[in-house]
Amino acid sequence: MENDSDIFIIGGGINGTAIAADAAGRGLSVSLCEKNDLASGTSSASSKLIHGGLRYLEFYEFGLVRSALREREILLGRAAHLISPLEFVLPYEKHLRSRWLVRLGLFFYDHLAKRNYLPASSGLKFKNDHRGTALSPALKTGFSYFDCFADDARLVIANALLAKNKGAEILTRTIFLSAKREKTAWKIALQDAETKKNFYRQAKTLINVSGPWVKAVHANISPSDLTFDIELDKGSHIVVPKLYEGNFAYVLQNRDQRIAFVIPFLGKYSLIGTTDSKFFANLDTVKIAEIEEEYLCKAINYYFKNPITKQNILWSYSGVRCLQASHETRTANITRDYQLLIENKSDLPLLTVIGGKLTTHRVLAEATLKKLGPYFPKMGGSWTANQPLPGGDFPKNDFSYFLTQFKQAFSWLPDEIATRYAKNYGTRVNILLTGVNNLSDLGDHIAHGLYQKELEYLIHYEWAKTAEDVLWRRTKLGMLFSAEEIEKLERYILTTFQNAKLSS
Ligand SMILES: Cc1cc2nc3c(=O)[nH]c(=O)nc-3n(C[C@H](O)[C@H](O)[C@H](O)COP(=O)(O)OP(=O)(O)OC[C@H]3O[C@@H](n4cnc5c(N)ncnc54)[C@H](O)[C@@H]3O)c2cc1C
Repeated sequence: MENDSDIFIIGGGINGTAIAADAAGRGLSVSLCEKNDLASGTSSASSKLIHGGLRYLEFYEFGLVRSALREREILLGRAAHLISPLEFVLPYEKHLRSRWLVRLGLFFYDHLAKRNYLPASSGLKFKNDHRGTALSPALKTGFSYFDCFADDARLVIANALLAKNKGAEILTRTIFLSAKREKTAWKIALQDAETKKNFYRQAKTLINVSGPWVKAVHANISPSDLTFDIELDKGSHIVVPKLYEGNFAYVLQNRDQRIAFVIPFLGKYSLIGTTDSKFFANLDTVKIAEIEEEYLCKAINYYFKNPITKQNILWSYSGVRCLQASHETRTANITRDYQLLIENKSDLPLLTVIGGKLTTHRVLAEATLKKLGPYFPKMGGSWTANQPLPGGDFPKNDFSYFLTQFKQAFSWLPDEIATRYAKNYGTRVNILLTGVNNLSDLGDHIAHGLYQKELEYLIHYEWAKTAEDVLWRRTKLGMLFSAEEIEKLERYILTTFQNAKLSS
């Protein structure tokens, strides 16, 4: 059978694409299938934080926090266009925790891992401080610490690009149907989601990294004696017009002990989340419930001077995370660490990934390859920590320097578009702008700064196929597009790119 590979990966989220990139860079042949668009699952529905997870210290998860804190710095070095430092303001409330306990937590947070890019934490007095202006006057003091904000979906695309650059085959809109351990290889049945045609691949190793779908996918893998339990946890976010000026976030402690973040979003908005509840419904149709909207508005109204209502919500999104099973009644208390389960029969391993965070995708991929070491003794060693993601190779390792140089070189580009291009595509903006010398070279203008050239780039190089892929995962222009403009874009893609050779 043709198209044999060393590793076949099911799932094109952050973890699947990171494993694909790492494995391909070690010289293994890799195929990955994703039933929908890359990052269409949990990996575009996160709080978009690359963070150590301050609250996990209360659960004594020092190992997880240390590893995540270390990753913040590593990822900033790999993709400074997609990940940026963000200050978090934690209003202090005496009845929740003593001041020394918060200080102790922040001391650990500052010192558990080395910091090159991020400042240390500090105490705050809100009187005469802009970070207190929007808050209820009852809140007098607080703390400040740093984590990072990331474009989660674009981080997935960057990992997929790295995998592809290293020779991996990335099959989007390709449904995994079943896999059978045959004599010398896994036989994997796939379906093209568009044409409905079935086809096959063979591989020595199968990796199930399908996030919350992990059990459903496992049910179609045979023979396997592997059993595991998971819990599904739904979380939703809302986006409202920005609640305050300034590029810093808030961490709010709800009455039920859960945390909500308020994060500056795309310059004009505040992103608020998350809710946290056990999930039992259909994974393919997850959306925010009214009760979640109310819960998030209530959290804001407790802490902020100016109240919000459901009418202020401009956009919302929901995702489901896959957690290791636990006896905890509250999903918020279940560990966010990952588990790698390996089952070997007939020298044809099956590796199943459970859990994990956006933050730890690179180390999860390294740990996966370590587990597979005995089966591929000739593969290369760890290599990703110092390897920029595609677009992240900035001169002097400095994104601001690159941004300034880029704006000077393309001074005819409207500032807003130039900033967006640089942040989205990093140094790969050169591919997008090849042969472009003025605004008219960008081709047709669809709406809100989206030109034909960018669409061409997204379709040819980044696996985009629909308006949704473009507007919500490759860019966040969906915040600006009306229903008519989305329809226009959909029609434009169909007519202009129908016969385009798509990257795959
Ligand atoms: C509300 C919320 C907030 C979060 N916030 C953060 C945060 O701020 N920071 C952080 O570090 N982590 C955060 N996380 C966790 C993080 O988002 C997830 O751990 C991570 O995205 C999981 O990635 P994944 O690749 O394992 O799964 P997914 O992204 O879900 O990818 C799995 C993929 O498998 C595909 N698939 C499923 N079945 C099939 C099939 N039969 N054939 C082919 N493909 C298939 C799906 O379409 C999907 O794209 C958050 C999670 C949630 C839910």
